[in-house]
Amino acid sequence: MYNFVEMQDKEVLQILTGEEKREAEGLELIPSENYVSQAVREANGSIFTNKYSEGYPGKRYYGGQTYTDQIEILAIERAKTLFSCGYANVQPLSGANANIATYFALLLPGDTVLGMDLSHGGHLTHGAPVTYITKFFNFVRYKMKNPDTGEIDYEEMRKVALEVKPKILLAGFSAYSRELEYDKFVSIAREVGAYAVIDIAHIAGLIAGGVAKNPFDYGFDIMTSTTHKTLRGPRGGLILVRESEELAKKIDRAVFPGLQGGPHMHTIAAKAIAFGEAMQPSFKVYTAQILKNAKAMETVLHDRKVRMLGGGTSNHLILADVHGSLGVGGREAEEILDSVGITLNKNMIANDTRPPLDPSGIRFGTPAITTRGFTEKESAQVANLLLDGIAHRGDKIKLDSIRQEIRKMCIQFPIPDSFV
Ligand SMILES: *Cc1c(COP(=O)(O)O)cnc(C)c1O
Repeated sequence: MYNFVEMQDKEVLQILTGEEKREAEGLELIPSENYVSQAVREANGSIFTNKYSEGYPGKRYYGGQTYTDQIEILAIERAKTLFSCGYANVQPLSGANANIATYFALLLPGDTVLGMDLSHGGHLTHGAPVTYITKFFNFVRYKMKNPDTGEIDYEEMRKVALEVKPKILLAGFSAYSRELEYDKFVSIAREVGAYAVIDIAHIAGLIAGGVAKNPFDYGFDIMTSTTHKTLRGPRGGLILVRESEELAKKIDRAVFPGLQGGPHMHTIAAKAIAFGEAMQPSFKVYTAQILKNAKAMETVLHDRKVRMLGGGTSNHLILADVHGSLGVGGREAEEILDSVGITLNKNMIANDTRPPLDPSGIRFGTPAITTRGFTEKESAQVANLLLDGIAHRGDKIKLDSIRQEIRKMCIQFPIPDSFV
């Protein structure tokens, strides 16, 4: 696997081998993570990393672009097909960059964005005060009306929108387990003259697989995304424009030269492969199973009386109030589960009274275990082991036996090399 690293650099080899083992022998429940195919990894590790190609296909600032143009055009065309839209920019280096470029494309300094509150499920890049982007633009937040159903307060959103006149009405989330009412977002955006933008970083794969609604069908103008979460591609970003050529030009200029320098063509090659995989019938089956597995976990939490934000899940993730239900802080739960081979993350819950570094919740999801081949049965088993681990946190013998069970499941379901 790492022939040349092995010959050349034992120090790095040891670290890589450690991570290989960690991923193989533990269960990944962080809902923003996944396992990519060997083909994606080959392209991501390819010689395209050698090449500078500032600009866009046909309009580059350096020579030697025969193949960079071909690969970028292929990635763009596949992204357009996958999400049924007119334009795609595959150059953003990450989801954060995709959002920042979109803000700069559509806004002037001081303009307002109305987005989801971080503690109600939004993302840092949607205007958390610690981000630099808030020095340029004014972010106003909307919230859930009822954290136990997950329903967004659309009336309040409309009232605030009429008041603050946002240029962007931003939908999308990192820690929210229900579907949004897209028609309401779009109608409020139209009413106040805002662009309707949605950040689909978490659910891009579900949309591509056809198991979640496509926001473009409801009139959203722009979608931003990562490519490495449910979409199961390399670490990177993506911006999609439904139909406006004028908007697409603004986005292209904002990504380059506005924000970034040379695109990472090796990542773009890997994106093309991942988009190709997502176009296969097997990807529909995969994404449908992600949802079934999340439902199976939901049933276990429901039966064991653990409070879930939103009352459960309609997507790939669950946010559980472990402090409220089990008397354990999110940080401690994360640490205990790490010790038995389950990786997930602590998370703020809506109206959390605890600090961000030790919040009330944990967040976990099914994209990665589903890639491993888990069905409802194993997913329910994991949910039970997870709750058992928290319940028996002081009991070393019990925790050891949970660790053994997790290891057995990992051996039975190795990380696959290929999905097509
Ligand atoms: C993960 C995520 C991002 C950021 O992606 P990075 O690649 O980590 O920069 C942006 N928005 C949402 C909603 C996300 O979940």
